[in-house]
This record gives sequence, structure tokens and C-alpha cells, in this order.
Amino acid sequence: MPLVKTKQTRKTRKQVPRMKITFTRKVHEYDDVYSFFFDATGVKYRAGQYTHLRVGGALDFFLGSIRELSFASAPGDPELMFSMHVGSKSKFKEKMSALQPNDKISLFGTGAHIKLPESRPASLVFIAGGVGMTPFRSMILEAHKAGNYPMTLVQVQRGDFLYRKELKPLVSDYNAVRPEAFVDTVKNVARGRSDDVIFYVCGSSRLIASVVEALNEAGVEKDSIQIENYK
Ligand SMILES: Cc1cc2nc3c(=O)[nH]c(=O)nc-3n(C[C@H](O)[C@H](O)[C@H](O)COP(=O)(O)OP(=O)(O)OC[C@H]3O[C@@H](n4cnc5c(N)ncnc54)[C@H](O)[C@@H]3O)c2cc1C
Repeated sequence: MPLVKTKQTRKTRKQVPRMKITFTRKVHEYDDVYSFFFDATGVKYRAGQYTHLRVGGALDFFLGSIRELSFASAPGDPELMFSMHVGSKSKFKEKMSALQPNDKISLFGTGAHIKLPESRPASLVFIAGGVGMTPFRSMILEAHKAGNYPMTLVQVQRGDFLYRKELKPLVSDYNAVRPEAFVDTVKNVARGRSDDVIFYVCGSSRLIASVVEALNEAGVEKDSIQIENYK
């Protein structure tokens, strides 16, 4: 979502340190979804965080060349990874698609809406659709490194499942479902869980609303749900 030019935004821009990151390569995932990689040197972030990327010159700020993106890479990886659809043909996506190795773009305003727990819960349940998987790739890789987190992943998609090959072996319970079976799968996964489970949900407002409703119906408390809303 483009940043709106407001007094608050202008003030924030002055205060937020920006850094340049160097593009290394891109990988085609499926359809119009690509992963973009950058040298991670000097970039600090936690699994599950998002940041702002700006591609283009100063004037581009007003032409919609800033977007919020979740880190798909895990802290400590040599490259930063961001995955996104490029088919919208927005200015930002066109500029991202045109990047060549060694080109530099800006990164700033890293924040968090979701995070891994500090102490070990009974299990972690990740529920996402499409590119909503990006923060979960980072979190699953990080939790796997820490070892022995029981993890469940519910991924909904009409076509290919993003990161499937890579993440399936890392979780104890992997569910790749079509939209028709999604809500029932979410309810089945949620029913009968202990209180000490964290449910993470990421995607569009529509997906989030249907998942939260299904979790509530399955008896999951609001406090056990962490949400990343791509709006
Ligand atoms: C915290 C956070 C993390 C995010 N992480 C990711 C991520 O990891 N990967 C990712 O892909 N996205 C992520 N997003 C969403 C991302 O910021 C962009 O909003 C998204 O990628 C769409 O950008 P765009 O430039 O393609 O489309 P935009 O130009 O931003 O448009 C957004 C949508 O509105 C539609 N639209 C635009 N203009 C019009 C118009 N005039 N009339 C009707 N419809 C219109 C477009 O078709 C598009 O579907 C995240 C968002 C947030 C808030």
C-alpha cells in the first residue's frame, strides 16, 4: 500500500533512518509471483517483521514507489528475500521488475505486527494464502533453527503453493488446501488444541476475517491469534 503524503508521513520520513540495499537476483515462483534478493549486510530484522522498500529517485515518492513488504528471509541469511506479485503493473512493481544486479534501492521503517514467542508454546499454527506466506517462511525457518517447535501450516491457494517444497519438511503438520476446503480445514486444525497455541494469520482483509471467524467458532481465544493484514 503506498504511503500517503501527510504531515505525519513527512515527519516520520525525516526521523526514520534509510539504508541502501543492493539487488542480487530474482527467482520466478509461480504465475506473476517473484522473489527478489538483496545483500543482507548491515540489515537488522526479526523473523515475521515487515519493512518499507523504495525503488527509484526522490520524485518517485509521490508516484507510488514505496511499498510495505514482509521479510521472507530469516535473520542471518546472507540475502534478504521479498516475494510479491508483479502483475499489477504499478510503478513500484515495474521498477522492481526492471532491477539489475548491483542496483541499489532504499529500505526503511522496519516494524512488527507478529512475532515468535520468547518462551516455547505448545505449538505454532500458521495460516495464510498466496504471498501471505512471506513472513511465515521467515518465522518457520527461524523456529526450525531454534529446534523442536511443533508447527502446523495451513496454506490456501487456487494454483501453486508458495515455498511448499521448502517448508513442508520443516513443519509437523502440513495442509495445502483449495479455497473450498479452507474454512473447514482451519476449524479442524483449531479444534481440541490446548490454550498454549499461537495462531498466526496473514493475507488480505477478506482472508483474515474468514479465518478469525472460523477460529472463534472452533473456540480459539482472541488473545491466541496474531494477525498480519496486507489490506
Ligand atoms: C505489513 C505489510 C506487509 C506486506 N507484505 C507483503 C509481501 O510480503 N508481499 C506482497 O506481495 N505484498 C505485501 N504487502 C502488500 C504490499 O504492500 C502491496 O500493497 C501489494 O504488493 C500491492 O502492491 P501493488 O503495487 O502491486 O499494487 P497497488 O498499486 O498498491 O494497488 C493495490 C491493489 O489495489 C488495486 N488498485 C490499485 N489502484 C487501483 C484503482 N485505481 N482502482 C482499483 N483498484 C486499484 C491493484 O490492482 C492492487 O490489487 C504487505 C502489506 C503490508 C501492510
